Amino acid sequence: MNYRHAFHAGNFADVLKHTVLLALIEALKTKPAPFAYIDTHAGSGCYALDGREAGKTGEYKDGIHRLLFPDMGATDAASAALPPLLRRWLDDILALPGNEDGLKLYPGSPLQAARALREGDSAQLCELHPEEAARLRELFHRDARVHVHHRNGYEALKALVPPKEKRGLVLIDPPYEAQEAEYRLIEQALKGAIERWPTGIYAVWYPIKLRSQVQPFLRGLQHGIARRVLRAELLVHPDDSPLRLNGSGMVILNAPWNLDQALREPLRAMARLLGQGQPAEWKLDWLANDSAEAIAAAP
Ligand code: SAM
Repeated sequence: MNYRHAFHAGNFADVLKHTVLLALIEALKTKPAPFAYIDTHAGSGCYALDGREAGKTGEYKDGIHRLLFPDMGATDAASAALPPLLRRWLDDILALPGNEDGLKLYPGSPLQAARALREGDSAQLCELHPEEAARLRELFHRDARVHVHHRNGYEALKALVPPKEKRGLVLIDPPYEAQEAEYRLIEQALKGAIERWPTGIYAVWYPIKLRSQVQPFLRGLQHGIARRVLRAELLVHPDDSPLRLNGSGMVILNAPWNLDQALREPLRAMARLLGQGQPAEWKLDWLANDSAEAIAAAP
């Protein structure tokens, strides 16, 4: 357990992950019924961008920072206007207490989600690392809607689904310290959770180094585990080197039917703003879609 998200907070992968998270929460909020947010790998919840860890890697400078300060040499001011989803995402982060004088704090998935919850919604946050879990508990100790579990998120998921609200979202965002083993754990966790809660939305983040490393996982999702699976990817380098993070993706099982429309313009803008040396590439497609099959099969 060497991974600490503080080194990576706000990087280009977080921009994708957390924008998708906001789009999913906004979709859930279109109905008044309460929903549950379950974060299996929560991290510590909030990160200081002027702290030692973020300062060491500077990754946020090629992530959220580029949305705030687009390179005007590469793009004119008009084309730099952000699509509404990205704008709302950024504005909420800038509105965080502590960011009054500019971006100093980067909220992780638990804090971004908690800020979007309504009175009756709830959050279950799992974190295995003792110090990260303690920080998370401290961050939310006054929020009765939020429950922190210092335990293995894959194990906890079995007990947490279905939630009492019967609707909601699971985010699975592991560190991938051992890639193949992590994919097996994710597949098992998804299978078990979907059996117990078939209507839940499940969002999984994955790193892209070599395309071949992620391909078996994505292929598995094309065949049956959920009837509707959307994939969103952003690549800032070609996916042909195992040595660095070339890009990342999110797969969303049981995705809201119009999530692809909500993400199209934000992804286009991310590709324009987050390219490193060359234009970034993006993908947005359905790995499985029962409604598309139904349309294709129609006479
Ligand atoms: N989701 C967070 C966010 O977006 O702000 C970042 C999470 S970070 C990528 C992964 C976290 O998972 C780390 O804090 C790590 O300590 C924790 N972790 C690793 N294995 C775990 C497990 N089996 N169960 C719960 N947490 C775990």
